[in-house]
Formats: sequence, structure tokens, C-alpha cells
Amino acid sequence: MTTYSAPVRDMQFAIKELADLESIAKLPGCEEATPDLVNSVLEEAAKFADGVWAPLDRAGDVEGATWNDGRVAMPEGFHPAYRQFVEAGWNGLRFDPEYGGQGLPKLVDAAVMEMWNGANLAFSLVSLLTQGAVEAILLRGNEAQKRKFLPRLVSGEWTGTMNLTEPQAGSDLALLRTSAVPNGDHYRIRGQKIFITFGEHDLAENIIHLVLARTPNAPEGVKGISLFLVPKFLVNDDGSLGECNDVSCVSIEHKLGIHASPTATLAFGDKGGAIGYLLGEENRGLEAMFIMMNEARLAVGMQGVAIAERAYQRALAWAKQRLQGRKISNGAQTVAIVRHPDVRRMLMSMKSRVEATRSLAYVVAGMLDTARRHGDADARARAQAMADLLIPVVKGWSTESAIDIASIGLQIHGGMGYVEETGAAQHLRDARITTIYEGTTGIQAIDLVGRKILRDDGRAIRMLIADIEQAVDGLDALAQDDLAVIKRRLRGGIDALSAAVDWIRTVGREDLNSVLCGATPFLQLLGIVSGGWQMARAATIAHNRLAAGENDPAFYRAKIATARFYADHFLAQAAGLSDTTMHGGAGVMALGEEQF
Ligand SMILES: Cc1cc2nc3c(=O)[nH]c(=O)nc-3n(C[C@H](O)[C@H](O)[C@H](O)COP(=O)(O)OP(=O)(O)OC[C@H]3O[C@@H](n4cnc5c(N)ncnc54)[C@H](O)[C@@H]3O)c2cc1C
Repeated sequence: MTTYSAPVRDMQFAIKELADLESIAKLPGCEEATPDLVNSVLEEAAKFADGVWAPLDRAGDVEGATWNDGRVAMPEGFHPAYRQFVEAGWNGLRFDPEYGGQGLPKLVDAAVMEMWNGANLAFSLVSLLTQGAVEAILLRGNEAQKRKFLPRLVSGEWTGTMNLTEPQAGSDLALLRTSAVPNGDHYRIRGQKIFITFGEHDLAENIIHLVLARTPNAPEGVKGISLFLVPKFLVNDDGSLGECNDVSCVSIEHKLGIHASPTATLAFGDKGGAIGYLLGEENRGLEAMFIMMNEARLAVGMQGVAIAERAYQRALAWAKQRLQGRKISNGAQTVAIVRHPDVRRMLMSMKSRVEATRSLAYVVAGMLDTARRHGDADARARAQAMADLLIPVVKGWSTESAIDIASIGLQIHGGMGYVEETGAAQHLRDARITTIYEGTTGIQAIDLVGRKILRDDGRAIRMLIADIEQAVDGLDALAQDDLAVIKRRLRGGIDALSAAVDWIRTVGREDLNSVLCGATPFLQLLGIVSGGWQMARAATIAHNRLAAGENDPAFYRAKIATARFYADHFLAQAAGLSDTTMHGGAGVMALGEEQF
């Protein structure tokens, strides 16, 4: 059975050629990210992902995390693998050296994260959540909190969680009820949180829970939510661990996938109140969470890219070894299924979308570096606006694509994909959660049309469309057939996108329901066209490299062929999605509930 091999060459191409590592490495604080250093980070991470985490993926799926009397045990092999991860410093790659991190750009971190996710999606969640907790403390913690908690979270010696969800409060956090009552220098937290990823486990000696709760007399709704830091074990001033806090793990969920990621129900304050410390100001917890969520949503988008890549690798290996059917031109010989046109179509539909979603995600990670570090305020603001616009797309489109890609991977295996032995089914099961947590696709789409287009008055999307137009112009001088087709398809994509944007901005003023009915098709449309933008850039670069006679012509020819396939199969869908955005809601809201 195949395992995982991090696609370092493709990652390097996306980082250097598309996300422009050279410019990112000129940003203040990113100077160390030279091409040589980035290459060696990618190569070392690949060795670790392929050699240490990937072999545990299947065993983790079969054994799963287990709950016993409030304690959660991780599957065999996960403890030494996590220790090695921490000792090698992988958890702190993008964080400030002041707290023990390595200060590398988010762009490089995104690629490395893709490797952890591809190697072992369930395992990688421990790091994703810990990094989220680090971001929250960096953003809202006071100096003492930063000194006390950050170094061990950055290293990964302690892990972090995000506690938003309650039984009655999922997408709608306005409904949350967990309470926080002031008590001297801290608060007493009481309430129940559900679905908390790595809410309890035995990989690390402490877990730092970040918890959303309401203080007494807080305003109703989202304006009355504050953010608290609640350690599993209290931490003394000298950094040593104190008493166990009043937080207990009631159970963990039995799930469709990611079996090695414990999803916990946590009871806070059953014995009088868990001790929690306010992070930032009272009633401004959700604001902090939202800033952090941007990063977490990008990270979940990366999960989509990663699991799709892994499903592709498995399907490709199968297609090369499974003998079935005969060549069309020579009926005598039984061939590997990779020789059949329809199997090639399926493989290309996987490969081209993996490359498109990866490129867009890396470009957005680079935008976040620019938004944070560029010397010029206008450049920072522009990059932030573009990243804000595209993050719901990376989250929603990459993950929705991943489910389809993993499903096609299963199809390529035939019946052997539907049974568990080949591993293809696990990728589909694992991928399925990515469109749900960190905000469902529907919630991403509402954010996209509501906050990022209507409230922004279309400014960011106009900038994006102008950038895509530039890529079309870049294809102008080139007469090669494939590039001419890509150009035509991308032009069509821009027209379809512009029509939908104009419609959203006009109709959004008086008929928001119709716009919201079209929000998810619009998110898909924007994903497909933005992905097409990156594929067109990749094809242009590949064409130029081939013309310059550079090494590895097969790699560059494949880039052009893949971009062409993407244009014909996915950019070609843009007009239909635009139409559905504008007309798909007709009559939907007029139906009575009894008519469904
Ligand atoms: C494995 C797993 C791990 C998780 N990890 C964490 C974690 O670590 N921390 C944490 O806090 N939570 C976590 N969650 C919870 C997760 O974030 C929520 O499940 C998710 O936000 C959706 O909320 P919900 O399940 O209550 O669904 P609901 O909010 O009930 O949504 C149900 C459906 O209705 C749609 N919907 C809801 N509201 C609207 C609206 N206003 N407009 C249009 N459509 C709408 C949704 O898109 C969805 O399709 C996890 C969940 C799972 C399953």
C-alpha cells in the first residue's frame, strides 16, 4: 500500500514562482527565508512527514483515540512521533523567535502545514489548534500571560484548544451560554463545550483551553462574548504546574473520520468553577476570535489541499498497477488502467484541482505576510483586503473540492476503493469534516458575499479582477494553442465573475435572500476563477521556462497540460455557476416549509 510523499517540487514551484518568495523574503523579519533555507526546510519537513507521521495515519484511523474515565489515550506510536515533532521545533516555525519560534514567513509555514496534513490529517489538528491558541495569546494576551504561556505553546510542549461550540450554539455563537464570573484576579468558568478538538489527550503535560463565555450583565448576542484562558493544570508563577483545574472530559465522539483526533465534550466548573483568565477586554472576545479565525480558515483550506493531494497520490499509484481492460489501439494486450482515457480524465481532474487550490492557498498565505510586514501602509492594506476576500474561498472551495477529489480517488480504485483495505475510503471520510468545522461552507459563503463584497462595496473584488485581467494580458503575446485556450477560458471566467459581482451589488440592496441563495455557487465560481488565474500564471511561467531551455522540460510541459485541462473542465463551468448565482434562488424562499 502506498503512503505519502510530500510533493516538494510542486510546492517549490508554487512558493517561488506563484507566491513570489523573493518579494516575501525582502519583507522586514523575513530576510532569513532565502531559497536555500526554504529548500532545506521543505526537504527536512518532507522527510519527517513521509517517514514519521504518514506511517501512523492508517493505524490511527483503525485504533483511534480512546476515552476511559475522563482520560483520553492516543493510538500507539503517536507519543514518540509527537515528541520528535516538538524536539525538532516544527510547531513554532512561523512564530516570533522571542517566544522560541523560528520566524519563518506564513508562506513557508503553509507548505509545511500541507505536509503534516497530507501525512496525517487527524494528528496535524493538535498543532493547528495549538497554533490558534498562540495567535490568540499573541493578539490579546498581556505581557505576563505571554511570558507564562507562549514559550511552551510555541514549542508544542503544551497544546491548545478553541472552545466555541455548545450544544445550542454552533454556527450561531450569539446563543452561547457558558458563564464567567469575576473572582479576584481570575474568573470562574461554568458550562459545557462540545466538539472540542484535542480537548483531552495524553500527548502533552498541559492543555491550554481558550474558551468563549459571557460575564454577568454582558450584552445579549455576540457583543457580550469574552475570551478566557483556562489551563487544564494551573501554572505557577515559576512556570511549574499546579493543581488540576475544574475541567473534565465527559466523552469523545465516534466519528466518520479523523479517528485519531479526539473530539471532546468538556464540562467546565462541575466542582464550583474552572479558573480562567480574561484575554483582552471583556465583551470583545469574538472580535479576537475572528482575527484568529482568518488564520484557522486558511489552515483548514490547506487541509483540503493536503488530503486531496494524498488521495491523488494513492489513486495514481493504483492506476499504474491495476491491470484491467485492453488498449483501444491494440486489443490484445491487458493494460494498467492508467492507460484508459476515462481514468486519465479522473486523474487529471484530481491533479489539476490539487494544483489550483494549492497555488491559491499559498498566494493568500504570502498576502498575509505582506499584510503584516510590508513597510508601506497602502501595500499592507491592499494585501489584507485581498486576503480577507480570498480566505473564505480558500476554506470553502478547497475543502469542497477535496471531498470531490477524494471521491474520484475512490472511484479510480473501483470496488477496492469502497472497502477499507486500500485506504482510499479513509481519505474521503477524513476529508468530509473540512467543509464543516471552522465555519461550514454556507457560513463562508455568507461571509464572502456579505462582509467581503457588499459591506466592502466591491473594492477588494475589483482589485482581484484587475489582477486576473493582468494574467490574461500576460498570455497575450503567446500564440501556443494551449495558452490560447486557457486565455479564452479565463476571459470567460472573468466575464462570468464580473456579471455575478455586479448582480450581487445591485440586488443585495433590496433582496438579500436571493443573494444568499446564490452565495455558495458564487463562492465556487470565485474559487474556480481564482484557481484559473493561478493556473494561467503557472502555464505562462512554464511556457517561458521551456522557451528559455531550462532543465526539467517534462515538469513544465505537464504544468501547461494541467492548466489546459483545468481551463476546459473547470473554468468552463464558470458561466453556469454565474447563472446559478443570479437565478438559482428563484422561488426558493417563496416555498412554505410544508412544501419541502
Ligand atoms: C470533528 C469536529 C471537530 C470540531 N472541533 C471544534 C473545536 O475544536 N472547537 C469548537 O469550538 N468547535 C468545533 N467543532 C464544531 C464545529 O465548528 C461546528 O460543528 C460547526 O461550526 C457547525 O456548527 P453546528 O454543527 O452546530 O451546525 P449548525 O450551525 O447547526 O449548522 C447546520 C447547517 O445549517 C447551516 N446554517 C447554520 N446557520 C446558518 C445561517 N445563518 N445561514 C445559512 N445556513 C446556516 C450550516 O451551514 C449547516 O449546513 C468541531 C466539529 C466537529 C464535527
